[in-house]
Amino acid sequence: MEPQAYKEIWKQVLSDIQKAGYYDSETFDSWISKTELFKIEDGTAFIVYPTMITLNILKTEQGISLLRSSLYEVLKEEVSIQFISKQDASKLIPEIKLQQRTQNLMRTDFNEEYTFENFIEGNSNAEAYAACLSCCTQKKHLFNPIMIYGNSGLGKTHLLHAIGNYLKKERPETKVFYSYSGDLVSILLDAMKTKNIHGNAVDQVKSQLIDNDYFLIDDIQNLQQSSSQEVFFTVYNELISRNAQIVITSDMHPSELSGLQSRLISRFNSGLSVNIVKPEFDTSKAILKKKLEGNEEICQINEDVLDYLAHKFSNDVRNLEGSLNKLIFNATLENPDVIDLDFAQRILMKEPIVSSTSELTIKKIKKAVTRFYGLTYKDIEGKSRQKKLMNARQVFIYLSRELLHKAYVSIGQELGNRDHTTISSSYDRAVKLIQTDKNFKMAVDKVKSLLED
Ligand code: ADP
Ligand code: MG
Repeated sequence: MEPQAYKEIWKQVLSDIQKAGYYDSETFDSWISKTELFKIEDGTAFIVYPTMITLNILKTEQGISLLRSSLYEVLKEEVSIQFISKQDASKLIPEIKLQQRTQNLMRTDFNEEYTFENFIEGNSNAEAYAACLSCCTQKKHLFNPIMIYGNSGLGKTHLLHAIGNYLKKERPETKVFYSYSGDLVSILLDAMKTKNIHGNAVDQVKSQLIDNDYFLIDDIQNLQQSSSQEVFFTVYNELISRNAQIVITSDMHPSELSGLQSRLISRFNSGLSVNIVKPEFDTSKAILKKKLEGNEEICQINEDVLDYLAHKFSNDVRNLEGSLNKLIFNATLENPDVIDLDFAQRILMKEPIVSSTSELTIKKIKKAVTRFYGLTYKDIEGKSRQKKLMNARQVFIYLSRELLHKAYVSIGQELGNRDHTTISSSYDRAVKLIQTDKNFKMAVDKVKSLLED
């Protein structure tokens, strides 16, 4: 529940108590009205008292029964009552914040374009496609976990989102959790650090995570080397024993994930591992044709151009789509009668696409950002809050996320070990800026074009 919701509940409860007339108005104004509802958890309402006097007034038998009945009136359910001091409450705030973040993580909006219908099947991905589709329709899960591995840009994230979109539409009652493993890791690490009355907040986060029917973890390689593996392992086992379906993607075969505990690897191997490889020629062409659907009016494109693209860019579907987009975009500028091979080659020579042989890395993004802004690594890693430096960092954070889906923790490491919460809020701001701030968008585009050199 949001803090605001507790405030609303408490306002009503206090007004009921006041109306009951049990406390004279002076007592009510000076003491009772200063209380707060901190949270309601497992059938217990935690009520914050500012001073011992308030506690003594509240703690009488009639006081408690009045509180309970007023709470019942508002909540329509019985709760027991626990009083906590303001000091103790403030210690619990990090735990509440963490709970909130976990809840946010659980509220994924799946990309509407990434559906099964929009996914082109071919030999290269047939097994992965079938495994993902069939786990959506079966209640008893034959293969658990399903592990999809393959190079970047071959449709792994697309398939996970397709599962999410399908379930949301066809079986809206199912609870689906989706996360980049990097984001999950950052929540787990925080839970281990966050103190509460039981020690730390791990149990609470765990119980939020295991309350799911589908658990989709993208890019599991980010879990490597992380001290959160222990917690992940127990969450994983609990999910399996509850017959929740787990689907994991990775850019390498499970056995090559050397930074993972061997018992995790053997768990991953115990389900179904399917490889997804680069699309064969026909599949690539079908993907291009799918992309062209609805664009027919804007431009005519020759068949041999599609052949050319399919031959040249099939290593990574992102590049395949990127090259086509570039042609369509340039056709809107130059208005040729038809996009023919000459046109295509001229455009694509002029602005080469990042080819998958020169793989994009976070270091390359850093280099491009510093080049664009005329800075050194030291500048952007440092502490200075000069406007130009702040902008450069934000562009770096945005692109590392958008292009490489890097975990906040790893982005923070590249920026002089900045805290991942700082990175995460900067990213959130950047996502809004890109819509509203022309200069920011331009900087992002320019840096992107440098990445293609
Ligand atoms: P990965 O997660 O494996 O790096 P993505 O799922 O992000 O790859 O795919 C990259 C892009 O290519 C996305 O826009 C996705 O929709 C598209 N794509 C990949 N494979 C296919 C396919 N078989 N059919 C249609 N689109 C695809
Ligand atoms: Mg992906």
